[in-house]
This record gives sequence, C-alpha cells and structure tokens, in this order.
Amino acid sequence: MVGIGPGGAADMSPRTLQALQTAGVIVGYKTYIDLVRDNIQGKEIISTGMTREKDRCAAAIEQASAGRRVAVVSSGDPGVYGMAGLVLEMLDASGKLDDVPVEVIPGITSATAAAARLGAPLMHDFAVISLSDLLTPWETIERRLEAAAGADFVIVLYNPASRKRNWQINKAREIFLTFKEPSTPVGIVKNAARQDEEIYITDLENMLHHPIDMLTTVIVGNRSTRLAGGFIVTPRGYAL
Ligand code: SAH
Repeated sequence: MVGIGPGGAADMSPRTLQALQTAGVIVGYKTYIDLVRDNIQGKEIISTGMTREKDRCAAAIEQASAGRRVAVVSSGDPGVYGMAGLVLEMLDASGKLDDVPVEVIPGITSATAAAARLGAPLMHDFAVISLSDLLTPWETIERRLEAAAGADFVIVLYNPASRKRNWQINKAREIFLTFKEPSTPVGIVKNAARQDEEIYITDLENMLHHPIDMLTTVIVGNRSTRLAGGFIVTPRGYAL
C-alpha cells in the first residue's frame, strides 16, 4: 500500500518511487493513477471509480496471492482515510494475512501538505476529522467536531464537501462558531502541490465565500492561531 503524497513526484519519497518502479501491477483510483503515470510506464494497471474500493482491494489481493508484486496507490498517506486499512481487513477476513507479504509505505498526507502551503498552522495539538458521512454516521462526526472545537484543537477537515454533499461544511462551521471566535483564521487549500493549486486565507466568519470541494483541505485555527504576513501560524508558546 503506497502513499503517493499530494500530487507531484517531488513530494513522493524514494521508498514510494521504488515501490512503484518495482511493482508489476498498479492498483488505484483513476485520478491517482494519472498522478503517477510517468513513474509506471509499461506496467499493468487495474483502476476503477472512486466508490469501488472493495473491488480494487479484491483485485489487488488476487494478484498478490498469485505471486505478483502489487502497488495499491492512495493519494497522501495510505493509512489516512486511504486503502491500507481495507486491504489489511480484507486479507484478514479471507485468512490470507499470513500468506501475502504486505508493507505500508507512508506518504505526505493532505493535512501537512496543506499546512505547509499556509505557513505553520499545525504547530500545536490538532485533530483531523473527515466530513464524509458515507461510512460514518453524521451524529458521530458532529460529536467529534464539538469535542475537538470544545477542547480548542486546531482542526483539519478532510472530505469537506462534494457536489452532492455540501451541508456538512455549513454545519461544521456553525459548531465551530459556538466555541471559536468568528475571526479565527481558516486556511483553505485546493489541489495542494498539484498544478491547479488554490490557496485561501480567511476566517470562520467568511470561510464559506471560498470554493470548498472534494479536492480541498480546510484548516481551522485554535484560539492562539494568527496571521503573520501572508501566513497562518499557531504559536507553540515560545517567548519572543
Ligand atoms: N489518503 C489521503 C486522504 C484521502 S481522503 C491523504 O492522506 O491525504 C480525500 C480527501 O483528502 C479530500 O476530500 C481532501 O480533503 C483531501 N485531499 C486529497 N488530496 C488533496 C490535495 N492535493 N489538496 C488538498 N486536499 C486534498
């Protein structure tokens, strides 16, 4: 299970590049395959649409069981809302965990890729929450949003909105506003480290005036987070 980072080859680790180069079969969502196209010339590719994760894992397990070297690619890190857990669960369920050697190769996850573009918003404790309620009941997500905001964590939102799913980000903002000031800095990064990258630095009051979709990571500050020129910084607490 291979993490390819946010996009370009410059953000992939040598270990990731080596895994791609030595694999015989590459399995992944089409968009991610396209991101690594230059590094996988001539390899067999198994790719399906976004919601076919189980099919992709089953195909990967079948190939690996037959002795082939398979790279299952995830954007960012494969163990952060990626494919690593599902592959391990399916191998376990089919009793093949002892027969098929597996390795999880980390990648730069969207939280840190986006944070780096914004400055240094994650210098203190932070919570990562996905707003996708496809696999998680909304009540659970809401409870976590409240707990994280109530404990003054910096909060990173993955899967903030899609074309069909856009009320969750409004609701999340409302919850944040019950604990955080409207002037709390918010960073919005779309397509981090990819060609069409967009970066917006705004605040809780105004965050919804910017485009937020499935290719976007949103970072909401804690009570100390502030702007420093064009950057967002969460102070660690050093006396200056
Ligand atoms: N495994 C991935 C996360 C998959 S969940 C990782 O570690 O980054 C998918 C979510 O990740 C998207 O909805 C978006 O919130 C975020 N994301 C993925 N790629 C991104 C990018 N290049 N720029 C900003 N956010 C991104």
